[in-house]
Amino acid sequence: MPKEALKLVLSFESEDQGFQPSEHNLSAEQAIDLVRHIASEGRTAKVIDQTSRHKTLDLTRCRPCKKSAEEATYGGTQPSGDEQKQKHQEGEPESE
Ligand SMILES: [Zn+2]
Repeated sequence: MPKEALKLVLSFESEDQGFQPSEHNLSAEQAIDLVRHIASEGRTAKVIDQTSRHKTLDLTRCRPCKKSAEEATYGGTQPSGDEQKQKHQEGEPESE
């Protein structure tokens, strides 16, 4: 029997907080149930595959959970363009 993959569920809290760990060490079925529950509250959830069982029971102290939440929040989708410099357009005719 292959080792059962454990799942970590993140939920999107707010723009400030981003994704926060909701529950970990879940079976695939439990993860799906939780995602449905979170979605029914109008929130976004994300399922992450755990590489191993998390030993910390307290979610707020669980480092792998925190790391996954940060990656889900900031990973690869950092907003760009807020520091966009205004391009000076050449050849634009000046009008009065
Ligand atoms: Zn965890």
